[in-house]
This record gives sequence, C-alpha cells and structure tokens, in this order.
Amino acid sequence: MSALEANQTIENQVQSLLAQMTLEEKIGQMTQIDFSVISVENGQDAENPIDSAKLDDAILNHHVGSILNTPTTPNNKAQPIEKWRRMTQAVRETAAKSRLKIPVIYGIDAIHGATYTQNSVLFPQAISMAATFNTELSFKEGEITAREVKASGLDWNFSPVMDIGRQPLWPRLWETYGEDVHLASAMGSAYIQGHQGGDFSAADKAPTCLKHYVGYSYPLNGKDRTPAWIGERALREYFLPSFEAGVMAGAPTVMINSAEVDGIPGHANYHYLTEILRGEMGFRGFTVSDWEDIIRLYSRDKLAASPREAVKIAVMAGVDMSMVPFNFSFYDLLLDLVKSGEVPMTRIDEAVARILRVKYQSGLFERREPDLPVAGNFVTEAAVEVNKQAAREAIVLAKNDNRILPLSKKASILVTGPVANTLNVMNGGWTITWQGDSEQLYPKDKLTLLDAIRQKTSGKVTYVGGKSFNEEINIEQAVTEARNHDLVVLALGEKPYTETMGNIESLNLDPVQLQLARALFEIGKPVVLVTFGGRPRIITEIADKANAVVLGFLPGMEGGLAMADILFGDVNPSGKLPISYPRNSNDVTLYDHKPIEAFESNQYRPLYTFGHGLSYTSFETSGLRLNKDKIALGESVEVSVNLKNSGTLTGKEAVLVYLNDVAASVTRPVKQLKAFKKVELKPGQQETLHFTLTAQDMSFIGLDMKRIVEPGEFKVMVGNESVPFNVMPN
Ligand code: BGC
Repeated sequence: MSALEANQTIENQVQSLLAQMTLEEKIGQMTQIDFSVISVENGQDAENPIDSAKLDDAILNHHVGSILNTPTTPNNKAQPIEKWRRMTQAVRETAAKSRLKIPVIYGIDAIHGATYTQNSVLFPQAISMAATFNTELSFKEGEITAREVKASGLDWNFSPVMDIGRQPLWPRLWETYGEDVHLASAMGSAYIQGHQGGDFSAADKAPTCLKHYVGYSYPLNGKDRTPAWIGERALREYFLPSFEAGVMAGAPTVMINSAEVDGIPGHANYHYLTEILRGEMGFRGFTVSDWEDIIRLYSRDKLAASPREAVKIAVMAGVDMSMVPFNFSFYDLLLDLVKSGEVPMTRIDEAVARILRVKYQSGLFERREPDLPVAGNFVTEAAVEVNKQAAREAIVLAKNDNRILPLSKKASILVTGPVANTLNVMNGGWTITWQGDSEQLYPKDKLTLLDAIRQKTSGKVTYVGGKSFNEEINIEQAVTEARNHDLVVLALGEKPYTETMGNIESLNLDPVQLQLARALFEIGKPVVLVTFGGRPRIITEIADKANAVVLGFLPGMEGGLAMADILFGDVNPSGKLPISYPRNSNDVTLYDHKPIEAFESNQYRPLYTFGHGLSYTSFETSGLRLNKDKIALGESVEVSVNLKNSGTLTGKEAVLVYLNDVAASVTRPVKQLKAFKKVELKPGQQETLHFTLTAQDMSFIGLDMKRIVEPGEFKVMVGNESVPFNVMPN
C-alpha cells in the first residue's frame, strides 16, 4: 500500500469510528489520567499496583483515551520491565472490553532512554547529545529508546524537548539541545526519525511528542514555569523553527508550554496552538496539555473565572487532550460545556479525530499485547555500545594547558569533590525517578567517575569526599592527601533536578565547592577540573587556575567510564559546547548575538564560546570556497572546505559552518550556525567537506513578520576563514 493509500485507509477508519461514538466516548478520548487514578493505595512496590475497579471505571465509564506515568506520583519510580508489560497489558485488556474497543495510548517520559524501566539504557541528556554534534548518534538514541519503550509495553514517548536553551538559569536547560536553532532542529529531527522510522506502527517504533510548545524555555527570571516575554519576531526566529523541524520530521504529538508568553498562558494561546501550529506549520497530529495545566488557567493564572471556563478556553484555543491528571473533572466539565452548546461538537470531533488518527498510525488497534519481545530489544550489547559512544563524544575538553591530559596510567591521583562518586550527577532528572536523585535505585554495575578512574590506573587512587551533596567534604583531609599524590581530579557541579525543584537564584557554584577548590590550588599540585551538571555553573576562577578543564554536563549512565576514557587518553575527545559557557552569572550574551551586543564596551566574552571543544590531536580547516560569488534570490550556494588532522592521533572533528547577512532591514546576528558535519580523520589525513546553504538558511523574519531573503552581501565563515557572496535582486 502506498503512503497515500495508507493515509486514506486511516482517514476512513477514523471517520467511521467517530460516527459510532457517543459524546461521552469522545470526551473520554480527550482525557489523560495519571497512573495513580487506577492504582491501589501505596501501589509503588505492589506486585500488581492496578486496582481493577478503578481501571474499569476509568476506561469503561469515563472512556479515558490515555494514561501516563508510573506507580505512584509524585514518587515515580522505575519498574521492572515484566511488571510494565503486565500493567500495560491490563490496560489493553480493559480497553478491549469497552464498547468500541478503542485502545488507550500509554505515555511516558523516556527522555534519555526508557527512564522508568529498570536497568534501561540511559543516554546522555539532550544537552550532552547536542555536544556530540553527531546526528547519527541522536538517530540511534531514538531507535534504541523506541525499542526499549515498546519492549516495556508502553506506547508513546514525551520526548524530544525542542525548546531552545537560551536561558542558562532555567532548570530544564539540559533537557534542550542548547542555544542554537539549527543544532537543536538537526539533533531533534534525527532523534524523531530514529524513534519513529518511516512508519511508527512498526513493532519497534513509537510516536514522539515535541515539547513544550512554545517559548517555555525562555523565562525572563530563569525560574521554571514563569513568564517569557518573546515578541513575535523572536518567537519566529528562535523558538518556532525547531518545532517546525519536528513537525516536518513527522512527530505526531505536541505538548504545550506550561507557562506563559507575553501574558498568554500556553494553554490559552489560540494564535500559537491553532493559527501557527496548524495553519502555518500544517501539524495534523494532536496536542496534549502539560501537567494539570488546564485547571491552572483558573487556579494559578486567573485567566479563567472558573474551572469550567478554563476548560472552555483551553479546548477552544486548540488543546486536544488534557493531562488532567488526577481526576475526571475535565471530562465532566467538557461534557457539560458541549451539552450547553458552549463548545461546539465540531471542535470535539476535530480533537478526537486527531487522537484516533495517531492511535491508528501507531498500530494500537492491532496491538492486543506487547508486540515486541524483551529478548533482543532491551539492553542489548549493541545498544550499550552506542550509549558509550554517545557519552564519549559528549564530553567537552575545554582546557588542556601544557597537555597535562591525557594522564599517565601510573599517576597517583587524589579524586575529590561532590560529583566524583555518584551516578545521579551524571544522569540528571528523569532518571529512575522524576528528580533522578535516588542513588540507591541506580544500577550497581555502572561506574562513577571514581570507579572508572580506579579501573584505569595502576597508580594509587585516593578519594576524599561525601557520597552526597549534603555531606561536607573534609577539606583539610583533601589538602593533606593532595600533597601525597601526583595530581588532583577535582569533580564539581550540581546535583540532579528538574522543573521547579531545580530553580536557583544564581549560576554561582556552591560556596563549599569553591572553598575546596581554593584550598587545593594553594598547595600547587596540578588540578584537573571535571564538571557534571545540567547548567553551566560559574567556574571561571577555578578554570583559570586548573591545568585542565573537562565539561561533562550530563553524559548518562556511561558517563563515568567515558570521562575516564578521556582523562587517560583511551578516547580522543570530540565534544563541542552547544551553549556559550558564561564567565559570570549574568553573562548571558549568546554566540548568535546582535552587533550591538559586541559594540563599544559590550562584548561576547563567555568563558568558553559556543562550539568550543579541544582534542588530543589538532585539526585545521582551510580553502573555504563557494561555487558562486553571486546567486539569484532563492538560489542555494555550495560551500566546500578542507579539513586536515594536523596532529599525531586519530580524532573526530565537527566542522561548523556559519552565515552572516551583512546588512538587513532587521538587525541580524553576527553569525548563525547553518550546517555542521562530524568526521573522523587519521593523523595527516585530509578531507574536503561539502555543504549547501539554501534560501531558507539566508532568510529571516522581516518587517512584516514574514520570512524573507533580502538581496545583498552575505558571509560564510568556517574556522578562521570568511568568504562573501552576493544575493542579487530579482
Ligand atoms: C513536565 C513534562 C512532562 C509531564 C509528564 C510535566 O510536569 O513539564 O515535561 O512530560 O510532566 O510527566
């Protein structure tokens, strides 16, 4: 069957099912509940946490279309895969008993692998995946995650986050692919393609969900779920394109911004949800609210005068499914609103058709049991290998004075600092639990940084530090031990967190960590600074004194191993920064800043620039050239550049191609990333890389808020070279 025919078949199935549905059944489809609604009391560790009477009530009486999460909110906790299969099977069987046998779509936050399935392959978080500048790895992460989610009997993944990370304080920065629009679009699209394949009804594929549409990531004060003030031009220029890329890549669902932009909560924004998402982007799937966010239009935002009005506003703005999630209030209120004629039946039919379409596309109607066996699909050797590779490519070598790295495997090392000996600091939130901080639940066979260093070296390794952030490190003992060793690996950073629990007031590093660092520097031993954490905490003073700086961000379950591989030179680092690493807490000038931000006394002077990352070998780009120096409006330009490994080790290098529109009717960034490619070269090897810059790449949001290309001069920049070309007027 051709894709067109398959679509037509699904359309016919959707319409025929819709025609048979009662109003109650339709509204049920738009309702998503949390697992706790169908759970026994304290179901967390129960062998069978489902209360079948509650499950029957949810599915048979309230006709719910979707369930999310684990037993039991808010203490979500990873479950054994066989238990997941039984739980989701119970849901499927109950749905099969319903009048029309409409399957429930079960959603989960599998944001760096199957978060809530015990022992799953947990990848670097998105910020670290972005640091790999390797779209193939993102594709594979998508593939493996979909397989592990499906092997768990789950249907739908609330991932990827397509928000752009331009506010470093924001506690979900690490869930994004960083500050750049092109990089985020490329990494996210590759992930979606891996996760869904060409047809996500396949047994090992699953639908993705773009979140959190749109503007969620840019709170003015840096705190989660607080207002963003984004004008329409900035929205179109920086925040919409990654979602558009996700829609183009085929993501069939979109989760909505939990906060507000320009005074309009995400869930009430008809312009964003309907006019732009549907009208302009052509999105045909369904939107799902974020957690409790419809009722919050009343209880928090005071946009609605009652819960009933909140439901009306959200549904009419374009919310198709409500993550209610703790009761059936949405169901009751919407039913009443339709009966009284305040919400038209056409809007309900539209929303339900969108939901049913995705259920058909996902193959849920044919699936009466988990259709992917665990064996061969869960924690395979190949998947673990990909994860190791991702972690290795994610780590950024930021400084390496006098080539102190790689370390000798005979060196005696003092390892100290609060992030040296736990796995949670390398994984962040959404790992086994919501906040990711339950170290006791982490797998026992994965290596912390300390474990991995111990495995690598025959030299003496001493550790001084607490097991958690609450235990203070004995600074005196650390200093004494430092004197007895060749060097110090100082591991600093953040504990795991997500959402509002991760709100902070300043990017400054914990004072206790600073004290430890200062005391160690005083004795003059070489210090290798290693950092883990979701945000760029300010390390300027320490980085200045350290002989080497290695930025780990959140490299996932294989992060300890990967970091040790790099420290000892078993792997040549190739990660690059997907953000500008600030020098000071309020240093929020980004790489694609406007000329005015680097004018007179202003400057772009972060501690490390976007795209920064060293290697143990050296690479040179040269011979940057274009196929034409003049093109017609709408034409593309071909870019070529030579890359040479001029050092003595094999290594990987991501080549970044930037563009600048020299003069335009709206101020343009000094440069913007438009293409990149990562290649591996042996010492002395050279390769010519080719890129195409399209009219889309040359475009911007013009005076009338429409995307345009203006004739005139452009500059292409790679490495130290810059080559101009001209777009001729028509
Ligand atoms: C988060 C979402 C997540 C949802 C379901 C919300 O609080 O903002 O990212 O998908 O919970 O767990």
